[in-house]
Amino acid sequence: ATTVELPGVTRVITVSNQKGGVGKTTTAVNLAAALASVGARVLVIDLDPQGNASTALGIPHSADTPSVYDVLIDEFPISDIVQTSPESDLLTCAPSTIHLAGAEIELVSQVAREHRLRTALDDYLATVDEKPDFVIIDCPPSLGLLTINAFTAATEVLIPIQCEYYALEGLSQLLGNVRMIQKHLNPRLHVSTIMLTMFDARTRLAQQVADEVRAHFAEQVLHTVIPRSVRVSEAPSFGQTVIAYDGQSAGAVAYREAAVEVIQRYNHTHEDAAASEGGA
Ligand code: ADP
Ligand code: MG
Repeated sequence: ATTVELPGVTRVITVSNQKGGVGKTTTAVNLAAALASVGARVLVIDLDPQGNASTALGIPHSADTPSVYDVLIDEFPISDIVQTSPESDLLTCAPSTIHLAGAEIELVSQVAREHRLRTALDDYLATVDEKPDFVIIDCPPSLGLLTINAFTAATEVLIPIQCEYYALEGLSQLLGNVRMIQKHLNPRLHVSTIMLTMFDARTRLAQQVADEVRAHFAEQVLHTVIPRSVRVSEAPSFGQTVIAYDGQSAGAVAYREAAVEVIQRYNHTHEDAAASEGGA
């Protein structure tokens, strides 16, 4: 198995793109499982009322399950709602339930409505015995208060981009939203990672989209590209990530490579920063 060095800090990454169906949830759960498979401790926070991330991680999330709704609205500690995925002891999930659909409206009248997740997460990280190396937040496809809570709690934004028509549509709006959050709510937030997904090597279009994204975002785009793969789309109906469902499939291999890259790129950036500070 691949061994990677973890930096010993918790990286909080929100997977965002206000377009639906671009692979946010698929990327959140498979990257999380891939990170766990190389030894990282990972907490997935499911902020989408649809609860697809909870389902894919094999986490029960019926209406009476304690969930992120209770954290945001009733100030439950995150430790009261966290469940461990049957796939790995290193992989945990704060599930969503259908109640979360109402939270978007209920949050409007709450105190510190943009900071509720951040406060709960800070509290969790300060008190939990075994701190996660990664917190990965799966967002709904809109800039409502749920997504704003994710942006306020995170330091990194990961944008999955589907290698198809209109891939870049809406991207400037998303980047504008990130800048707005940076300015008003969370100065540490930045787009750290762009992941090309659903890549079909047989089409010229996919290659063109990939080239265009790389030209615009040379720094952020991962070298690893996630292929379009039936195994990836089948896995959730078995309550599994593709890492557990078919670990040898092209999709699983790609997500594991992406996970290693996500770890190593951070390490390199921070080594460089440490080296230049030392040399100054
Ligand atoms: P979002 O969370 O952005 O709405 P999803 O992750 O739910 O998007 O993905 C949308 C659809 O695309 C799902 O049916 C999912 O199974 C499928 N999908 C995502 N990534 C891949 C892939 N690499 N190969 C094949 N199908 C994929
Ligand atoms: Mg989704």
